[in-house]
Amino acid sequence: MDAAGLTGRLDWEKQGLLVPAVVQDAATLRVLMLGYMDRAAVQATCDTGHVTFFSRSKQRLWTKGESSGHFLELVSIDVDCDADTLLVLARPHGPTCHLGRTSCFPQAPANFLAELDALVAARDRDRPPGSYSTRLFEGGIRRIAQKVGEEGVETALAAVAQDDDALLGESADLLYHLQVLLRARGRSLEDAVAVLRERHNGG
Ligand code: AMP
Ligand code: ZN
Ligand code: ZN
Ligand code: ZN
Repeated sequence: MDAAGLTGRLDWEKQGLLVPAVVQDAATLRVLMLGYMDRAAVQATCDTGHVTFFSRSKQRLWTKGESSGHFLELVSIDVDCDADTLLVLARPHGPTCHLGRTSCFPQAPANFLAELDALVAARDRDRPPGSYSTRLFEGGIRRIAQKVGEEGVETALAAVAQDDDALLGESADLLYHLQVLLRARGRSLEDAVAVLRERHNGG
């Protein structure tokens, strides 16, 4: 990230040499928190790859996660239309709010399929006993593929039968099992969505 380019574009005079920075989860797009950055904070964020603010209460540079370890790993920074606000995309390493919540805005909307994707990946990694996802992963790729086939057929049959409750339920089953299948191959639903986006963009 080019700190000099960013600081050069920003209007530093407007709010006492601080600009508000909205931080959004790069995967789920959930708004995580809002902080303020001065020039040094923008520079430190770009240099270290860990989102850093000027803390108005501490009156010093504050790297989010410096004591908790719950860093915000920088993905990108964007400047708004009149160059007085930043939009930061980051990968959170743990809860962002000091109250232990994912976000300082617990009701902030998010892409639920992306959240579920992250949960499915965690189940694959940790294999907690008693979890249905664990059982699917341990059953192997053929068994998971068979489940996707079954749920696909059930979805199609529900649509033909004009049973909309069943159609929604089977569609949910299909999406979840498809996520598990993709994860079992080391891929994610986001990867499949990226293919859709590329087609949409004429790629
Ligand atoms: P941390 O930066 O996560 O190591 O937390 C250090 C201290 O910063 C906490 O004890 C809080 O006082 C403050 N803090 C942490 N996270 C936030 C946040 N999302 N918004 C405001 N203050 C925070
Ligand atoms: Zn603005
Ligand atoms: Zn908070
Ligand atoms: Zn089903």
